[in-house]
Amino acid sequence: MEADNEKSLNFIEQIIEKDLSEGKNSNRVHTRFPPEPNGYLHIGHAKSICLNFGLGKKYNGKTNLRFDDTNPTKEEDEYVKSIVEDVKWLGFDWDGEICYTSDYFQQLYDWAVKLIKEGKAYVDDQDSETISEQRGTPQKPGIESPFRARTVEENLDLFERMHAGEFEDGAKVLRAKVDMSSPNMQMRDPVMYRIMHAHHHRTGDKWCIYPMYDFAHGQSDYIEKITHSICTLEFENHKPLYNWFLDQIAEGDRPQQIEFARLNLNYTVMSKRKLLQLVEENYVNGWDDPRMPTVSGLRRRGYTPESIRNFADRIGVAKRDNVIEYSLLEFFVREHLNKITDRVMAVLDPVKLTITNYPEGKFEDLELINNPEDENSDKRNIPFGRNLFIEKNDFMIDAPKKFFRLTPGKEVRLKGAYIIKCEDYITDDNGNVTEILCTYDPETKSGSGVSRKVKGTLHWVNDEKCINAEVRLYDRLFTDEDPLGHKDVDFKEFINPKSLQVLPNCKLEPHLATAKPEDKFQFMRLGYFCVDKESTSEKLIFNRTVSLKDSWAKKKK
Ligand code: ATP
Ligand code: MG
Repeated sequence: MEADNEKSLNFIEQIIEKDLSEGKNSNRVHTRFPPEPNGYLHIGHAKSICLNFGLGKKYNGKTNLRFDDTNPTKEEDEYVKSIVEDVKWLGFDWDGEICYTSDYFQQLYDWAVKLIKEGKAYVDDQDSETISEQRGTPQKPGIESPFRARTVEENLDLFERMHAGEFEDGAKVLRAKVDMSSPNMQMRDPVMYRIMHAHHHRTGDKWCIYPMYDFAHGQSDYIEKITHSICTLEFENHKPLYNWFLDQIAEGDRPQQIEFARLNLNYTVMSKRKLLQLVEENYVNGWDDPRMPTVSGLRRRGYTPESIRNFADRIGVAKRDNVIEYSLLEFFVREHLNKITDRVMAVLDPVKLTITNYPEGKFEDLELINNPEDENSDKRNIPFGRNLFIEKNDFMIDAPKKFFRLTPGKEVRLKGAYIIKCEDYITDDNGNVTEILCTYDPETKSGSGVSRKVKGTLHWVNDEKCINAEVRLYDRLFTDEDPLGHKDVDFKEFINPKSLQVLPNCKLEPHLATAKPEDKFQFMRLGYFCVDKESTSEKLIFNRTVSLKDSWAKKKK
């Protein structure tokens, strides 16, 4: 956050500073963020973005945005667009043009041909099950393919014909000839190319063979002159292969792979494949549903880029897997919204309150400070009058002693207005309170200096001057801390049936009539809210970003 140089260096910064002190890579630092465009970015990716772009910035270096688009069947332009937008929204800018692994398909192909010529790659006709059976186990060495001994000429001919489209999907693969008895399974003749007659979002139908991640990633890093290639821990055992491929092609500076622990958050899932299921099976309303842990979902929910960056900074980088509490993320959004939002009044579940000694047809403007946390904050007027709304649950007929709100015969203050006393109430045939009758004390106007001890302060709006809105309240998407941690139960079984509550009939102070999508407010006593993207001037819609206090901490106890 602040005083960067006073903080101790994380292990990646230590590596970078050592490299710099030894003059490696001509003293350059160049990182990259390499998403596969097969889904929307989630908060884990945001962590990786903050890390990679943060290091680029800190060491006066560069950071590329590279789409790792080697699997045409899962990748789409829609995802590319959303990822570009999310990275920008988070506040980062990449060096030069956006990069795509698909831009290097020809170079990768040429390198594959070079490996074949050197006797380091061969075409295998076996199907994927056979190949995977022959790989053995960490305890048991693999079995060499009967096609491993093919001549260079035969391999060149077959690979060229794979390229030309002569064979069906799955009929053949190109494999690296490394070591079938290596203790590292990744080194047991990994597949480099597979046949896929599929339309690619950028190269169209030009290619029908596509490189595997391992044969593309390190080479792409090398082409882009990346110095530090930061990835998550599951790639640790790919590192020898990453280096083996570089050994075959690289001259001069070459990228170094560094692994860190991926971000895990409780009460959610973070794999794009799982998130896609939630979208496709309509458990949520799209990738940017405010309950989703996606960057676009958090944005729509009302998170700010600052709050996500502060969160990423605070959790730091770890070498071991761990789980971060969801409430820590909420802490950071609260902290930021507390600083920047105006305090306004909104009644979510309204009941009428009439001030019987206030003249009919009279209104008076009361002045409220927009944000007491901000010394430059403006003030605004809110209309007071005889007919008001308050929250239903701020009134109780037979209240227990500790109910510091409104109850017959007792006084409360209306925020920014007067002290009122409940004189009576009206109920319908079912005993529901339909109207509360109060008197006000004109001497006690807020700011007048005249006051007395009252139990509580309630928010309210004026019946005639208020505006209507729909408010959407959210709870955690899953009821279980670790939805993926149950062997025989599908994670969707733990979806919280009450994760979305729509309140169609909320009453807001008139100040909010001009609020635009993504505008953020504190609704006094209720939490932080943000205007939804579906909101219009005819139908205002607000999302609750987060409540004022951590209600989950209490529930857990
Ligand atoms: P997922 O498994 O969620 O689909 P992925 O790793 O397949 O994610 P990529 O598009 O390949 O997604 O990831 C782009 C970058 O983001 C990679 O460098 C990856 O290591 C990083 N990344 C992905 N998930 C996380 C996470 N939870 N925490 C930190 N970094 C992550
Ligand atoms: Mg991936």
